[in-house]
Amino acid sequence: MEDESNELASRPLPRLEEMDTKYFWQETRNKRLSYQICENCSKVVFHPRAHCPGCLEGRLSWQASSGRGEIYSFSIVRQSYHPFFRGLIPYVVAWIDIDEGFRVLSNVICSDISLADVKIGSRVELEWEEHEQLCIPLFRLI
Ligand SMILES: [Zn+2]
Repeated sequence: MEDESNELASRPLPRLEEMDTKYFWQETRNKRLSYQICENCSKVVFHPRAHCPGCLEGRLSWQASSGRGEIYSFSIVRQSYHPFFRGLIPYVVAWIDIDEGFRVLSNVICSDISLADVKIGSRVELEWEEHEQLCIPLFRLI
């Protein structure tokens, strides 16, 4: 019988076959944070989707982000009922304004000591968490 505790303690991962986000997750294997730009109105589009939310055009081009940005807002999670996230507490969940003009919800990785250093406006950069079929974009203070 397999030990189910290891499976329960792994990070929940996204579905790779979802049409709008498939390319995004494929690019994470190459450690590229991808976003879209509308070819009609130049709006920066994130999360990935089939149409521009500004003008409803469907011609979106893919771009690779620098992976740098600053914390727009954050919360420190001190309690979790999910086995994987329980093992991380306390951890930071943050909205991050990426330099190219889009906002991402992710974690800011830090030790217990540096939790106090996390501030609105703190600069962060990508740090990838590797998995078999994709990488998860996490962030670290810089
Ligand atoms: Zn547009």
